[in-house]
Amino acid sequence: MTVVSFPEIAERELVERLLGRPSRVPFTVAKRCSDGTPQVIQTEPVFWEDEMWKPFPGVFWLLCPVLRVTISRLETDGFVKQMMTRLEKDHEFFQLFAAGQKEAMEWRMQRVRELLPNGIDERIRSTLEERNLVGSRSDLGVKCLHGHAAMFLVYGKNPIGEEVIKQVGDCPGIHDGLNEAADKGRVQ
Ligand SMILES: [Zn+2]
Repeated sequence: MTVVSFPEIAERELVERLLGRPSRVPFTVAKRCSDGTPQVIQTEPVFWEDEMWKPFPGVFWLLCPVLRVTISRLETDGFVKQMMTRLEKDHEFFQLFAAGQKEAMEWRMQRVRELLPNGIDERIRSTLEERNLVGSRSDLGVKCLHGHAAMFLVYGKNPIGEEVIKQVGDCPGIHDGLNEAADKGRVQ
């Protein structure tokens, strides 16, 4: 895992504008669109706030305003339900998805051990053991498609994210009206 810290101020401002809020957690830009726009950020799985370490299960966040809008449309079209049905009915698809989450959760816990070499608080451990990379408690829960896509784009091993990207295609690398699109993306 990349060592993550807040990037320089201009990049941080752009990322937070795309995110629609300040980031509580240090992050790094893990993937960019072809014009250089931050596409996915990666955060640390734990962060220091209010004098204590706190867990942060969702490591990958989709920022590209174009992909956020097209993926939100896919959600409106019922693709979440479609993926949940596929997980239930297609055993191979489920196995692939569950194995990817398991591996990524072990990788995430390894990073926590590196960050907290003196021991991991039980509250942090249980949250991170219960929540997969998209913040779900169950491998059958799909929740929001953006997290799956973000994981697939950087880490791979997420067949739901792969299906989502197959549906919406690549970002064209044009982000006219970046703010407006980011605002729309946030509404969902
Ligand atoms: Zn983009």
